[in-house]
Parts: sequence; structure tokens; C-alpha cells
Amino acid sequence: MTRRPMMAANWKMNKTVREAQDYTAALLPHAADADGVDVAVFAPLTCLSEVARMAEDSQVLAGAQNFYYEDSGAFTGEVSIPMLQDIGVRTVLVGHSERREVFGESDDLVARKTKRAVEAGLLPVVCVGETKEERDGGGMWEKVSGQVRVVMESLDGPGGDALVFAYEPIWAIGTGDTATPEDAQDAIGQMRGLLKELAGDDFAASVRILYGGSVKPGNVAEIMAQEDVDGALVGGASLEVESFVALIEAAGEAASGGEESGD
Ligand code: PEP
Repeated sequence: MTRRPMMAANWKMNKTVREAQDYTAALLPHAADADGVDVAVFAPLTCLSEVARMAEDSQVLAGAQNFYYEDSGAFTGEVSIPMLQDIGVRTVLVGHSERREVFGESDDLVARKTKRAVEAGLLPVVCVGETKEERDGGGMWEKVSGQVRVVMESLDGPGGDALVFAYEPIWAIGTGDTATPEDAQDAIGQMRGLLKELAGDDFAASVRILYGGSVKPGNVAEIMAQEDVDGALVGGASLEVESFVALIEAAGEAASGGEESGD
């Protein structure tokens, strides 16, 4: 089975509406040329409706960095899935380490949010990953497998295209300290093995798992060349459109190079 690569930009808390418009206008023609690659842009809420409007009918998926799992009500400061769908959002980030570490999001909340997104048909990109201390203490797999299990246990037999996972070692995010391609393959290969155990062969062979953590044009090719890595979630190197376009092109080259895995 061939999985379609995905290149996702996480702008985090950056960009005015004007900057988002300029970026999206520059991105759209390049994304249209990148046959075989899914492109996503996770924009801040203030410019998300504008990105979604400009990307409508394109292959660029406008994405939200956060939301709450209830549809409406007394949840000050939150937005819901129906609200995001109303403005044309097609994907959501869930469980990014900055949400978990800075804002205290629990595994249970991450699972509830993922379940709600899957039910609504909005593609969640679910982030998992370990801290430096956990890795150094030999606890990488305990942490990552636990995070994957909680999410999968909340879902009712999802198809492999219902969600995307992103392995993002926390020590590699925004630090310039990228995991080696072998480290990325090791963790993501183990995740695919666990997903096979939890959800079956077809799910494991078709679900996409991205790597995230200081990916840039200079290291993306060797990361994309790993058998189980289906793309990247990119923070810093996605902020300049030229750099993000270079990453999309690299994903396209990996795809046309016939990266096949699964069965
Ligand atoms: C991220 O924000 O998910 C991320 C991986 O950031 P960076 O590429 O800057 O490490």
C-alpha cells in the first residue's frame, strides 16, 4: 500500500492576517504543482478564516491549531468543530506538545478531541512524543505508546484515512536538534507495529505517521526516505513560504521516487 505524503506547516502564534494572505497566495500555485502531496497549514485563529477562504477548492488543507470537543456552550475562549467547519477548516492539530506541556492538556482531553474530530470528518493530526529526560531514561516507548493507546481506545474502528499521527520528540521541537532519520524511523516503525496490534493490518498499513522536530530543507530528504515516515509537521521552517515550498517539493520527490510500504 502506498501512503500519500503530507507536509504540514504549524505557524504557531505567528502571522498577521496580511502576512497570512501573502503567504497563502504564494503557496497555492506551488501546492497545485506538488502532485501526490497533501499540504496543510495550521494557522492562528485570527487568520484561519482567510487562509481557509483562499485555500477553498485547492489541495491546501486549512487547519486549526486548537479547538474544544463540545459543539457549543459556556466554554469561554474555545472554538468548536462545527465553528471550524463553518469557515472551511479541514484539519486540526491535537495534542501538540506545546498544548500538553504549556497548557496542561491531558491524554484524556487529547483522546476526546480526537474522537470528536474523527466523528465530524475533520482530519485530526495527533501529536505524540517524549521529553529529553524520558528519552535519556529509556522511557521513550512507554510515553509514546501510552499516548497512542489512549487515542486509539477512544475510537470505534476508524479507517486509516480518519486521522494522522505525528511523532514529535519534544527535545527536537524548535531546538534545531533533529532526531536522526534512524531515530525517527525507529519510533514511527514501532508506532505502526502498535497500531497493527490495536487496529489491524489495513489500518496500520494505511494510516499516515509524520515526523516533527526541526525539519528543514537541508534534512527533509533523509527523513522522508525512511520507510515508515509519511511526511513532516514543521514549525520554524514553515514560517517562510519559500522554505515550506522546498519541503513540499522534497516530499513530492520522495513520493515520485516510489516510496512504497505496507503490503
Ligand atoms: C512543531 O511545531 O510541531 C515543530 C515540529 O516545530 P519545529 O519544526 O520548529 O521544530
